[in-house]
Amino acid sequence: MEVNIENKKLVLKVGDITEEETEAIVNAANPTLLGGGGVDGAIHKKGGSKILEECKKIRREQYPNGLPFGEAVITTAGNLKAKYVIHTVGPICVSGSLDEERKKLLSNAYKNSLLLADSYKIKTVAFPSISTGAYRCPLDSSSKVALKTVLDLLPKLIYVEKVVFVLFEESIYKVYKKNLEKLLTESK
Ligand code: ADP
Repeated sequence: MEVNIENKKLVLKVGDITEEETEAIVNAANPTLLGGGGVDGAIHKKGGSKILEECKKIRREQYPNGLPFGEAVITTAGNLKAKYVIHTVGPICVSGSLDEERKKLLSNAYKNSLLLADSYKIKTVAFPSISTGAYRCPLDSSSKVALKTVLDLLPKLIYVEKVVFVLFEESIYKVYKKNLEKLLTESK
C-alpha cells in the first residue's frame, strides 16, 4: 500500500528490512546497542562487524549507561544495501499493555529516528514494527502510534521524502493497513 502525503510518500509492505534499499533502515535495538534477537540480530548478522564497532564507540563516548528508551543514534550499515542504520529503542510492554507513558516512548522512537535521518539529509527511511516482537507491545495500538507519528511528522521534514514500513509477516501488514486506512479517513 502506498499513499501520498503532501508530496511525501508513505509505503507499507511485507518484507525483510535487511534487504531494503532505502538510504537508512531503522533498527529496533535495545539499550545496550550490542545486538540481540529479532530484527536487531538480523541487521548485525547481515551488516557485519562494522555496525557493532560503531555501536560500541557510541556506548563508550555518548551513552555509557545505554541508549535511553525513545532515543536514536546512527551508524554505518556495513554490508547492507542501505547506507545507514538508525538504532532506536522502543518501550517494553511486560504486562502486555501500551499505557500513556509507553505510547510516548514509542512515538519518540519513531520521531527521533526521523529527525536524525533528516539531520543527515537522508531521503528514504525504512522502519520495522518497533516494540511489537520481543518487547511484546500490542500490535494494534502500537501500529496506530507508529503511523500517526509518521503521518504527523513527515510533511514537516525537509529531506526525508519517503518512509517505508517493512513488516515481517502478512498478518502484521494487515493490521498496519487497516489502521492507516482508518487514520486517513479520520483526517479527511
Ligand atoms: P522489539 O524488541 O522492539 O519488539 P523485535 O525485533 O523483537 O523488536 O520485533 C519487532 C518486529 O520486527 C516484529 O514484528 C518482528 O516480527 C519484526 N522483524 C523481525 N525480523 C525482521 C526483519 N528481518 N525485517 C523486518 N521485520 C522483522
